[in-house]
Amino acid sequence: MLRAERYRHFIEYFSTNQPNAETELHYGNPFQLLIAVILSAQCTDKRINQVTPSIFRDFPTPEALAAATPEKIFEYIRSVSYPNNKSKHLAGMARMLVEVFHGEVPSDINDLQKLPGVGRKTANVIASVVFEAPAMAVDTHVFRVANRIGLTNKAKTPLASEKQLTEYLPAETVRFAHHWLILHGRYICLARSPKCETCPINLFCRYYEHNHTEAALRRAEAAKAKKLKELKKKKQLDFIAKELKKRSVDKDI
Ligand code: SF4
Repeated sequence: MLRAERYRHFIEYFSTNQPNAETELHYGNPFQLLIAVILSAQCTDKRINQVTPSIFRDFPTPEALAAATPEKIFEYIRSVSYPNNKSKHLAGMARMLVEVFHGEVPSDINDLQKLPGVGRKTANVIASVVFEAPAMAVDTHVFRVANRIGLTNKAKTPLASEKQLTEYLPAETVRFAHHWLILHGRYICLARSPKCETCPINLFCRYYEHNHTEAALRRAEAAKAKKLKELKKKKQLDFIAKELKKRSVDKDI
């Protein structure tokens, strides 16, 4: 199947079945989403949703968070991954919002990346979710699932994956595709054991085509038969070699 066809099926399936896919992080405004996304690196959304309500309550504005020390913020996030670094990032991010961006979350991806704790992936999440920009945030799920389905081809880095996805997806679809891929990776196309047999998109998935379809089984059978044939041939050659050696020994005697 051509890549363009996979994209067509992908968009058709998900826009019909998950038209309103959205982030599972809880937030009430752009500032809160920024906090939640910074905290979510290498951590589950479930865990982040447990700690953010008290942060949002006690630090409702960038000014309030900017006035807090990293040590104070640490108390709120000690149960998430990398709390030391993340508390410093949150304090620095809030200070920069106040001092440089007038207390507003910027919409420009380059500006967003100037904030402590905000890399390209986080900047893309904020740009797409808050400002509805056609930005593709590539996390581990997006990277893996896009590659398995065949939406990306030989993409070695998240940036390469992002470039291919944004090149092929229509701009208005990019911000939804990000959630489609994440949710599919989180619940069906699991890293270690993808649920391929029950996956609703297996008919246009490259991984499935290569590993589960009749053609794949036929390929596997043919490879097995070839191997057996080679083994048999090797055994015959070994036998002949042994016989010849035996005969030459007999002759010598
Ligand atoms: S068929 Fe398997 S590999 Fe392909 S998307 Fe579904 S779960 Fe993932």
